[in-house]
Amino acid sequence: MPVNRRIILRAHPDGVPKPADFAMIEEAVPVPGPGEMLVRNRYFSMEPAIRGWLDGKDNYFTAIPLGGVIRGPTLGQVITSNHPGFQPGDHVWGLNQWEDFSILSDQTILLEKLDVSPDIPLSHYVGALGPSGLTAYVGLHDVGRISEGETVVISAAAGAVGSVAGQIARLRGARVVGLAGSDEKAAILTGRLGFHAAINYRKASDLGAAIADACPAGVDIYFDNVGGRTLDAMLPRMRDFGRIICCGMISDYNNQATPTPVHNLWQVVAKQLTLRGFLLFSHMETLPQARRDLHQWAAAGELVALENITHGIANAPDSFCRLMAGETVGKTVLEVD
Ligand code: NAP
Repeated sequence: MPVNRRIILRAHPDGVPKPADFAMIEEAVPVPGPGEMLVRNRYFSMEPAIRGWLDGKDNYFTAIPLGGVIRGPTLGQVITSNHPGFQPGDHVWGLNQWEDFSILSDQTILLEKLDVSPDIPLSHYVGALGPSGLTAYVGLHDVGRISEGETVVISAAAGAVGSVAGQIARLRGARVVGLAGSDEKAAILTGRLGFHAAINYRKASDLGAAIADACPAGVDIYFDNVGGRTLDAMLPRMRDFGRIICCGMISDYNNQATPTPVHNLWQVVAKQLTLRGFLLFSHMETLPQARRDLHQWAAAGELVALENITHGIANAPDSFCRLMAGETVGKTVLEVD
């Protein structure tokens, strides 16, 4: 008899999470009721947003309680279905839980049947062709209104969202500069992903000066994945009427009680900047076009899907902790089996 292995929250993390903050339990495989389906999870999408649900405080989702199963997006395959829209074998995506088997239904947030191509590795639908790539696309188009010839700077540029955002910006004819936390990551940006320049922000003694060197005419769009000190350094480097795409603020996710102050906000007035935050699920109308473009670029070899895959559900906490320690390159994915 198969069992359902589930990863639960054992302790609220103090700073960077560690595997001991999590535990694995085993329960019976659930049975779907009317309108529900039993899904075997294939991949967990490791998302920085999960860190915000571990501190016992609600944000735009409720906090995960101690002993609760970790919530996160998953890609799975239907085993049995009492839902008229899903058949056994269908690939499904949704905001689900870290477990082998799940019951999904119309109540599942972001529930979606995926149209997967046999020519594309399934894991890419978690990253570059999934929510990370879609987030990059929506941010640049709906929020940033990117145009050819503009200068775009991207933080956490070697990460899941950043690596796709930089490539899309290049494909849209922009000049792209990436910020990343090591020389190895910076080399991947300019070598494999076609960024025009890259800065190891940890090594730069004056980040503002390094950005000014890389962008002598100023920055039209800053795709901000990190907030904090990097956002502060970017504000004076923006051009008049520049746009800052506020995608995430990971530099403070391990430190939410005392977020980093931002000192240069006056630049928003002086340069007439637009700072706009967004959440992917508020831009559903853009997703069909985004998917078509991302697929086309990937099929043509113009979009590299960087990913790091960890195997085995028991290693999900370790995979997540490495993401939150800034150690990963590309999309961090957990392959369940
Ligand atoms: P990721 O970039 O693959 O991984 C995180 C990277 O963030 C790290 O590798 C690290 O790269 C950087 N980082 C900077 N400060 C850090 C810190 N204090 N601790 C850990 N890492 C730090 O993650 P992702 O999934 O692509 O997410 C990137 C951002 O997009 C996050 O802020 C996330 O919340 C956001 N996001 C937003 C949406 C939305 O709908 N708005 C959707 C998905 C993701 P360096 O070595 O370069 O510092």
